[in-house]
Amino acid sequence: MMKPDALELIIRGRTDFNEVERYCEHPEDFLHYLDSINVERAGLINYVAPEIIGFTPVVNDWIANYCKADPYRLIAFGGVHPGSVRDTGAEVDRLNKLGIRAIKIHPSHQALSPNAYVSGNRELAAIYDRAQSHGIPVMIHTGTSIFPGARNIHAQPMLTDDIGVDFPDLPIILAHGGRPIWMAEAFFLVRRHKNFHMDISGIPPQKLLEYFPRIEDIADKVLWGTDWPSPGVNQMPQNVAKFESLPLTAATKQKILHDNAAALFPR
Ligand SMILES: [Zn+2]
Repeated sequence: MMKPDALELIIRGRTDFNEVERYCEHPEDFLHYLDSINVERAGLINYVAPEIIGFTPVVNDWIANYCKADPYRLIAFGGVHPGSVRDTGAEVDRLNKLGIRAIKIHPSHQALSPNAYVSGNRELAAIYDRAQSHGIPVMIHTGTSIFPGARNIHAQPMLTDDIGVDFPDLPIILAHGGRPIWMAEAFFLVRRHKNFHMDISGIPPQKLLEYFPRIEDIADKVLWGTDWPSPGVNQMPQNVAKFESLPLTAATKQKILHDNAAALFPR
């Protein structure tokens, strides 16, 4: 579905694109790959962004079907985009029935501020409201994007503060911790709101403590992630090895690499 210039950005610099394509067609192959790198479970991120990237709501049916190969190990993330479906609340209900475990909002690729409901976007409010009822976590992309057409004004973490106030029981994951320029906002929000988490996907592990010097303070709310196979992210196991070499406590590493995500996505 990807528009040509978005696809070009994904392919450029990859030596493993053929494998990525094969995994997209064959979940069994991907599960074998996960076995080979000692990964128990993977969150497979999809979202709807028809104008800027090319993804339509059909990604939800695709990923739900894909994850049937092993719905425990393959955690389906789908998307709902105001304007792409007639009734966003009903779409969240449909995703829940399909077995989708989380929703990704991508503000810079959807040209949509995550708090747009405050100024009248009722379709967005309906997404949060229905997700909260179902207990479906909402992951919100924070931090810059270099995809052609991305609207980065919407990707500032502070725009999610309203959600913490208005939907206090909706599990929120701030993807990428606002990297590489809004980390202080993400750290503040994760500390402020009890329902907020963040993931560290897309952050080079050797930069993690430079970006988040007090990450141990939020160790219970940080999720591992790599952002593979997005641009610049080549090797998942090497990222884990670099993370494990950081001067963090063993307890913090265990929480970030395993326990926090396991609690958010129980069997
Ligand atoms: Zn993202």
